[in-house]
Amino acid sequence: MADVALRNISKRFGATEAVRELSLTINDGEFLVLLGPSGAGKTTTLRLITGLEKPDAGSVMIDGRDVTQDPPGSRDIAFVFQQYSLYPHLSVYDNLAFPLRSPARRVPEPIIRKRVEQTADLLHIASKLNNRATRLSGGEMQRVAIGRALVRDPSIYLMDEPLSSLDAKLRAELRLELKRIQLELGSTILYVTHDQVEAMTMASRIGVIRDGRLLQLGTPREIYESPADSYVASRLGTPQINFLSAGLLSDVPVPPGTETVGIRTEHLRLAARNGGGMIGRIHRVEHLGEQNHVHLDYKGKMLVTLADPHQPLHAGQEVELHLQNPLCFDRAGQRLPAMA
Ligand code: ATP
Repeated sequence: MADVALRNISKRFGATEAVRELSLTINDGEFLVLLGPSGAGKTTTLRLITGLEKPDAGSVMIDGRDVTQDPPGSRDIAFVFQQYSLYPHLSVYDNLAFPLRSPARRVPEPIIRKRVEQTADLLHIASKLNNRATRLSGGEMQRVAIGRALVRDPSIYLMDEPLSSLDAKLRAELRLELKRIQLELGSTILYVTHDQVEAMTMASRIGVIRDGRLLQLGTPREIYESPADSYVASRLGTPQINFLSAGLLSDVPVPPGTETVGIRTEHLRLAARNGGGMIGRIHRVEHLGEQNHVHLDYKGKMLVTLADPHQPLHAGQEVELHLQNPLCFDRAGQRLPAMA
């Protein structure tokens, strides 16, 4: 396996700055997830690593070697795309064997058989090896697509939203499997997605990217608990973090310079009205089984929080808001250190 380092990479397409001075190291054996909205520069970053795009500035290092000017084929990288890209007329076995059968590789057939069978076992598709690729479910096809990358045993895997075309149940299943396989093989993976759940559940570190810029890099927990700015705070957490102008708070100490506070749902508790404090009015209670989402109006601002289904709350009710650990942001949206 290998580590990959991007040093001050920039790439422009006409007037679009797709990637701006991005520096990032993917450590050996790490599952790094780049999380960002559509157009953030995620795919371009992957293509720069493969060599399919050349940067306007900066360099790409693999295992300490500068490969910026090397042709794409010379880098030992496997790419898994959003679409399955299987050969429909071939069996699952032959689809998996395909990358090993290139004339340049000259892998002996018994070794191919062994690698294909091992990969199929790992992905739980061993019973499908003789099926045609087109006779598979979407989830199985995507497993074969991932298998085609795994079978080569490359030094790094680049994955571009490989689960986005699957339904929610399969996505959850394959998420767990990908993570299991990565831990089992010790693979180095750079995975891009706009799905925060994928990022939170699979990543050893998350890089949050927007407009071609890396805004923050850290463990899922660091990014969630100590976001660098209000944008990063809004990217993680369901329901989304609440933002409130600091001037609307009462009796909640915040550091000087605070313009806005971010309140995660787990830090906003509702209680029966009992005098003063911050009073809101419940607008709507959504029952989701193990928890309720409560939407409430506080001084004209809609907030959302979670509540125990046993707590008697109903639309129209006035409640007291109890806040803990608000994240504090300055005028520019940068997070300020919490009060001691
Ligand atoms: P998505 O999640 O939608 O795939 P992304 O984060 O992967 O988005 P990129 O595909 O890297 O984003 O695109 C970043 C920006 O660069 C976008 O504004 C896109 O339109 C632009 N772009 C990417 N490739 C090209 C190209 N070949 N020619 C012109 N513009 C491009």
